[in-house]
Amino acid sequence: MLVNKLASNIGPVFGRSVDILKGMKMPEEAYNIVRSQFYAQVILSKIERTKANSREKVIAVCEEDLYLPEEPFVLGWVDTLSGTAVVSLYRIRQEFYGLPEDESKVYPRLFKEATHRVAHLFDLTECRNPKCVNYYSQIMLDIDNKTDKFCDICRRQLTNVV
Ligand SMILES: [Zn+2]
Repeated sequence: MLVNKLASNIGPVFGRSVDILKGMKMPEEAYNIVRSQFYAQVILSKIERTKANSREKVIAVCEEDLYLPEEPFVLGWVDTLSGTAVVSLYRIRQEFYGLPEDESKVYPRLFKEATHRVAHLFDLTECRNPKCVNYYSQIMLDIDNKTDKFCDICRRQLTNVV
């Protein structure tokens, strides 16, 4: 449900098609047994191998907790060269905080996080405006506080590239 909704809403934001990979089987080699997390970069390499052509932009949505060697966790990760991105629902879900699941809270988070990551696939850099959807936010409070829209600066940059 969440992912289907995302798939139909994210393309129009960028004015072109963005492929959503759902229910992806996590590559075993991405799993770190000590951290009980998946290495985001390895997942992106696997997604790259599923791409039909190099111009395609693909974002995967997964349920697993992701990390990078220098970060305790990441909500998502992007590789601009390969045009791939991944977003994890693990810490976006209310369940992670011991709260009842609530799609009206979880979907906007997923949409914002995915939009933010896909913006990077179109060469946007992090935005310092805390209301902009492209603002770097690792905690739910920041995600919930930002809007699902680009600020004027990001919007102008986007219209130049897409
Ligand atoms: Zn912005």
